[in-house]
Amino acid sequence: MPVFFFLVSAALAQPRYDLVLKHAHVIDPKNQISAIRDVAISQGKIAAVSENIPTSEARKSIDLSSLYLTPGLVDMHTHVFAGSMGREYTGESCVRPDGFTFRSGVTTVVDAGSSGWRNFGEFRDQIINRSQTRVLAMLNIVGSGMGGRPDVEQNTRDMDPQRTAEVAKRHSDVVVGIKVAHYAGPEWIAVDRGVEAGNLAHIPVMVDFATFRPERPFQELVLKHLRPGDIYTHTYLTAVPMLDEQGRLLPYLFEARKRGIIFDVGHGGGSFSFKQAVPAMRQGFPPDSISTDLHVESMNAGMKDMLNVISKFLNMGMSLDDAIARSTWNPAQEIHHPELGHLSVGSPADIAVLRLVDGDFGFVDSARRRMRGTRKLVAEMTLRNGRVVWDLNGMNSEDWNDTSHK
Ligand SMILES: [Zn+2]
Repeated sequence: MPVFFFLVSAALAQPRYDLVLKHAHVIDPKNQISAIRDVAISQGKIAAVSENIPTSEARKSIDLSSLYLTPGLVDMHTHVFAGSMGREYTGESCVRPDGFTFRSGVTTVVDAGSSGWRNFGEFRDQIINRSQTRVLAMLNIVGSGMGGRPDVEQNTRDMDPQRTAEVAKRHSDVVVGIKVAHYAGPEWIAVDRGVEAGNLAHIPVMVDFATFRPERPFQELVLKHLRPGDIYTHTYLTAVPMLDEQGRLLPYLFEARKRGIIFDVGHGGGSFSFKQAVPAMRQGFPPDSISTDLHVESMNAGMKDMLNVISKFLNMGMSLDDAIARSTWNPAQEIHHPELGHLSVGSPADIAVLRLVDGDFGFVDSARRRMRGTRKLVAEMTLRNGRVVWDLNGMNSEDWNDTSHK
């Protein structure tokens, strides 16, 4: 056949899709899909999800039989303002997102208040704009964020709702909330200023209540001070008043949830206890969203990574479909980014391919107590904007001795 002829017929036979992922069990909670489906990707976007997409319609296909395919995970509590910031808390405790996200199926992270209005520009230039991971942020109500001297987060004079809201609005493409954290004083000032900034910028507030004090009871935080749609992170922290003397869940928690307060995991290094989480799960108080509070200490302790935290919930009785909802579509809605966390046609092809492994596993909480378990999720492959950015077993590669490919 003349070369000319070949080129013409190749052009005519141009496949519709760049990639088709075949035979995976697709879990897409927003679209109420939990079934074996094929997923096609074109130009970095989800192009089709259906029962059978012929491989001939795609440039490339990968067989994902026996694996799960979910939207790329959304971790809404992380610390990724890493940089050359010397001995400051933000620099040394934070991790660079791309080194920790894709290998656990995460494609979107929210930095929870590592920066404030004073140093957000630096965070944006150094990390947000340079990362392959989609990095969103909550601005700390403290202007200097978590950086600087150890007492910086106690400086109420640096809690400026106006300036915080101004910077949030200027960067509304990536700023998704206000963070209140680590305030140890007896007053409500940090929470109330955070809420004021949230009102000015029309975004939710996330609270790490830090030191629990009788002068400002936790019950009042979730029943009065926070607004519906605001987020309490560190739900299963030991200090949260959760159980009565008989081990029954306190009714105010359900009341707060009914008000619209969101309860997030925020596992972290010191904020997740099985003594709280196990009875809460048994008595019907699961988290609205699952998040890691990723930083250097938590990832090297019991938290480890997003899939390890999700696996803890699977072993406490949460269904896989439910766990995926709480780590994709739920957090996307909580941060007011409904374009994320699902596999609708036209949305960015951010995808996690997961293997659910059976075995004898141990999961460790913040008190270094272990829970044994039999199920664990492993990230086989992660795609960001349709591109494979993590591939544990080389499913996207040709065998080294395959001569049919150059
Ligand atoms: Zn945190």
